[in-house]
Amino acid sequence: MTLVDTRTPNPKYFISGATGDWELVIGMEVHAQVTSESKLFSGSSTEFGNPPNSNVSFVDAAMPGMLPVINEECVRQAVRTGLGLKAQINKRSVFDRKNYFYPDLPQGYQISQFKDPIVGEGKVLLDLGEDGEVEIGIERLHLEQDAGKSIHDQHPNMSFVDLNRSGVALMEIVSKPDLRSSDEAKAYLSKLRTILRYLGTCDGNMEQGSMRADINVSVRRPGGEFGTRCEIKNVNSVRFAGQAIEYEARRQIDILEDGGVIDQETRLFDPKTGQTRSMRSKEEAHDYRYFPDPDLLPLEFDDTFIAELAKHLPELPDEKSARFIETYGISHYDASVLVASRRSADFYEAVAKGRDGKLAANWVINELFGRLNKQGLDIDDSPISADQLGAIVDLISKGEISGKIAKDLFEIVWSEGGDPATLVEERGMKQVSDTGAIEKIVDEIIAGNPGQVEAVKTKPGLLGWFVGQVMKQTGGKANPGAVNEILKAKLGLE
Ligand code: ADP
Ligand code: MG
Repeated sequence: MTLVDTRTPNPKYFISGATGDWELVIGMEVHAQVTSESKLFSGSSTEFGNPPNSNVSFVDAAMPGMLPVINEECVRQAVRTGLGLKAQINKRSVFDRKNYFYPDLPQGYQISQFKDPIVGEGKVLLDLGEDGEVEIGIERLHLEQDAGKSIHDQHPNMSFVDLNRSGVALMEIVSKPDLRSSDEAKAYLSKLRTILRYLGTCDGNMEQGSMRADINVSVRRPGGEFGTRCEIKNVNSVRFAGQAIEYEARRQIDILEDGGVIDQETRLFDPKTGQTRSMRSKEEAHDYRYFPDPDLLPLEFDDTFIAELAKHLPELPDEKSARFIETYGISHYDASVLVASRRSADFYEAVAKGRDGKLAANWVINELFGRLNKQGLDIDDSPISADQLGAIVDLISKGEISGKIAKDLFEIVWSEGGDPATLVEERGMKQVSDTGAIEKIVDEIIAGNPGQVEAVKTKPGLLGWFVGQVMKQTGGKANPGAVNEILKAKLGLE
């Protein structure tokens, strides 16, 4: 790949060393397991968690004379993903053999795509909060087979091989070296995972290994020539990616500042120590003796095939976020939080539809998500439904309950369930907007606190104290607007 620098150096990201500032450069190769019932070139099941070697056909075990047959659904999934990455779709692509020996690779080669991948250049948009948006280039996406798994902990002096994963379809999604910090790298992984999940082309479960990242890291003087990179293999969580990059940057800077050079090598991240260690020196493409697989014709499809898939794509996070901002008047930041998963976006929309969108966003993000996070729950496990939260928002909008009472009501609905409007009736939580009732309480407070009444004339800030007293007496149920007006009138503050 020809390396082009598309970014302006951001001093905020610089890492200071003994000899001056350094800048990180990161590019990622993400392996995403294609969501499909069967493998890339055989009819075996892809189901996770089955007994070892139960999802294996003669093709997956590479028995002599077996022929691979392309699974059309995997091709569709790759094209859908390409469309979701706003990428060039290549109507003609070629499968190659990438030759290497591994005990869990019975063919002695992996079928992959080298020179002519199914998807070309695309992009992923990152929302960096106050730093704005940044576009990360996608170099390519190609289809390839996964390998099996060697198991070393079942027997004292033998290793076993499980071929269940052998032949499962992977998409390798290669980014350009456009990332400049560990935070950007983490944001990229999360965003990519969100897009894949919206599309339904990969489940994105990193802890199960269905999405894993090879992270290429180098350092350089800000804006200078690209440095030599190291590749950290198979990182399986967003948090580990951040840790691995931070460690690796420091390691490389220390070597360079001591007058050393970086060896281009493949490294492993150890989550226990937070360090990376050398695994092998970097192999080059020519080491693999790539050549077109003679058992497979070039993969070809036409514009209709692509158009049909494009027509049925779901609304993707960026588009959804733009629509939420437009329709519900919420902030860019709130929108990006809400669309991070399709389920939470749907939940929000069910609450916001026909209501005050900002108020709805506030309740979904601050109250609901906050509460879910605290208990380690997912939106799917929310004890409060969108209908119930919508009803709470309605009660606030209509002035029937105050924001403070709404929080109490939220707690009740969270732990006991029930219809919010009925609960408000039954438990007498209604806001007192009856001015007569409020006036009576205000009169009592004024009569009982002559000192404060005198003081508020010169210190208008004391009004808050009076409001507090009224709230205390009404159990937080007085309408704050009405309380303020009545107090000001009676205290002669206007
Ligand atoms: P290979 O397939 O041999 O690993 P590629 O040239 O295809 O190499 O690049 C793989 C990844 O490494 C890409 O994501 C690319 O953006 C990234 N990359 C390339 N050069 C650098 C560099 N100097 N620093 C950091 N990342 C890099
Ligand atoms: Mg690589």
